[in-house]
Amino acid sequence: MTHASAYAAFDAASPLKYWDFERRDPRPDDVEIDILFCGVCHSDLHAAKDEWGVVDRPFVPGHEIVGRVKSVGADVTRFKVGELVGVGCMVDSCLQCHECEDGLEQYCNHFVPTYGGPEAGTGKQTYGGYSDRVVVKEHFVLKVPETLDPAAAAPLLCAGITTYSPLRHWKVGPGQRVGVVGLGGLGHMAVKLAKAMGAQVVVFTTSASKVDDAKRLGADEVVISTDADAMAAEAGAFDFILNTVAAPHNLDPFIACLKRDATMTMLGVPAAPHPSPSVAGMIFKRRSVAGSLIGGIAETQEMLDFCGVHGITADIELIPIQEINTAYERMLKSDVKYRFVIDAASLAQG
Ligand code: NAP
Ligand code: ZN
Repeated sequence: MTHASAYAAFDAASPLKYWDFERRDPRPDDVEIDILFCGVCHSDLHAAKDEWGVVDRPFVPGHEIVGRVKSVGADVTRFKVGELVGVGCMVDSCLQCHECEDGLEQYCNHFVPTYGGPEAGTGKQTYGGYSDRVVVKEHFVLKVPETLDPAAAAPLLCAGITTYSPLRHWKVGPGQRVGVVGLGGLGHMAVKLAKAMGAQVVVFTTSASKVDDAKRLGADEVVISTDADAMAAEAGAFDFILNTVAAPHNLDPFIACLKRDATMTMLGVPAAPHPSPSVAGMIFKRRSVAGSLIGGIAETQEMLDFCGVHGITADIELIPIQEINTAYERMLKSDVKYRFVIDAASLAQG
């Protein structure tokens, strides 16, 4: 077994704390990674607090992992010791079904999440990246461009691909007016990526204090979404909207902003459902509300390479792991500028 240290949630209500545990011994197709940094996604918080159902304890979150290869199994062909690599939200899938064949492993019925899933072969829970090392099947390991700051690149592994994939799927590009709802971890990546794809980008935020930041991040315009008049002024004006909000809210004012045949894609997975949107809002002008889950492995590599070419990373607050519980409290207050990233070296302090 491979010894590892982590911060874990021992129950839904208590702060995360230090934990020593064992990971599986690397298999022939595994890459063993020394973790350098791990981003803090709102999904970590939802899961740690049992907002998506009860999880096995201790529970180790973290699926925005950047590190260096420590060792490779005998069958590994794509990675060498010392390389800068990343691991996102998945560590396994069947690799045989139509979804996997299409490079959409995230839609495989048997995909294994990086944390809280049943590990292939052992059935034990998978443990995430709030840790000093991880062992992952080669197929699910990504190459991180060495030109990017590794700490600021970590959030690309979830926030980056989760916004890149729908922007590509719905063919966002030049000449389009694109809305991003919620300026947090996902939202600020969506602004940077949609802008790099050539779209005109409008941020919808509940936080008036984020207007200047939204513009600095690349937004052409900012709308305060709690201002009914400002919202009404945007009616029928959007080709596509990406909604990243982590809490239940009224979708109708955003649907009303879509043009005919346009789509709002939902990314947030709040603890409680959104109020049902008005069907009339969709029928008139044939609008759609859709959803999207992270992105496949090939597309994640494409996104990392795109970010390498365009010099795109997250705006981060680097924290020692001992500050993770304060980071969660701030996340619940929409006070994230714009992704917390854990410095894994801090685990040495226990
Ligand atoms: P985050 O950093 O906390 O950002 C969420 C943003 O939503 C906030 O910054 C805030 O922006 C807005 N918001 C408005 N009201 C809120 C409220 N009452 N509570 C919290 N946020 C509120 O979260 P994130 O990491 O970007 O994740 C966003 C959601 O996407 C989460 O539900 C997460 O689980 C989900 N997610 C989905 C996928 C997927 O594959 N679909 C992948 C990763 C994450 P303003 O201040 O600008 O209003
Ligand atoms: Zn995530």
